[in-house]
Amino acid sequence: MNNADRYSRQILFERIGAAGQERLARSRVVIIGIGALGALSTELCARAGMGSLVLVDRDFVEESNLQRQVLFDEQDARSHLPKAVAAEKKIRAINSAIQIRGLVLDANSSNIEHLVRNASLVLDGTDNFETRFLINDACVKLKVPWIYGAAVASEGAVMTILPGVTPCLRCVFEELPPAGTAPTCDTAGILAPIVSLIASLQVAETLKILTGHEGDIHRGFRMFDIWTNVFRDVKLQKARGENGCATCGERRFDFLEKHEQSRTVRLCGRNAVELLPARSLQIPLAELRARLMATGEAEGNDYLVRCVIKGLTLTVFADGRAIIQGTQDAAVAKSLFAKWVGT
Ligand SMILES: [Zn+2]
Repeated sequence: MNNADRYSRQILFERIGAAGQERLARSRVVIIGIGALGALSTELCARAGMGSLVLVDRDFVEESNLQRQVLFDEQDARSHLPKAVAAEKKIRAINSAIQIRGLVLDANSSNIEHLVRNASLVLDGTDNFETRFLINDACVKLKVPWIYGAAVASEGAVMTILPGVTPCLRCVFEELPPAGTAPTCDTAGILAPIVSLIASLQVAETLKILTGHEGDIHRGFRMFDIWTNVFRDVKLQKARGENGCATCGERRFDFLEKHEQSRTVRLCGRNAVELLPARSLQIPLAELRARLMATGEAEGNDYLVRCVIKGLTLTVFADGRAIIQGTQDAAVAKSLFAKWVGT
């Protein structure tokens, strides 16, 4: 296939041109989380001709993903194909000229620096704050640009982080929000158009950075609600360090340290996994139980909330510990916890 022809409409765009297209072909983009945001941004990056894409995801395709996760189809859901694998297959058919690699793994403190090290840019397609803080630590430490993106219900947010130039994620959010307090796609639902909007903005910023137009990026934290029509743009005036940020100011990378990571333990003989938070949390059990009632099977007492979700029994304790019965796979257990409890 003739590349000049293939990318002709993009090359015609003056700010990109043939030189910009060449730069895209030489770039390596790592997309962490291939759910709704990650699937669409992966497709846009592949069609734009970014030369190498690395797709990282710990989850598998389910029927409820198909409403918004554009790279997957019914067959992927029927065969419970890992998202990284299904996405790699689809992208190969869309653009056979680029390098594409799907990695079925949980991005965590032991592998994040390795994943990020040689990237031109990292795209956030995750569904939880713990992984985003980890990406932020690794990208600030290794000076790799990354684009934060989040979408739930009809709301979304996007922010461009150029280490050493713009504020980082921890300049905006100093600490992880408490587990169980933030809505997730599985408790509040999600509309496909907010996903398209946020992923599109993430990839637009990516195109600017990779073609050498850092001056054209958006500097600030943008929030959109496509249902209530509320759009907010929080200007982030202070540059790195000036606001006492632990990460980009003091260069303390707490989330890369093991002790800040939650741990998982397989409960032998019980076909169950226990998730242990890094520190004791205060889970608002009544609030969590009310949200889990969406499944129709949540129950509990003063000490825990228990819910059967797709054959797995999730039990969340007030101190943040959780036991997931019905699996011995730590990634499956973490995924369930992230989807229903959050962070
Ligand atoms: Zn910072």
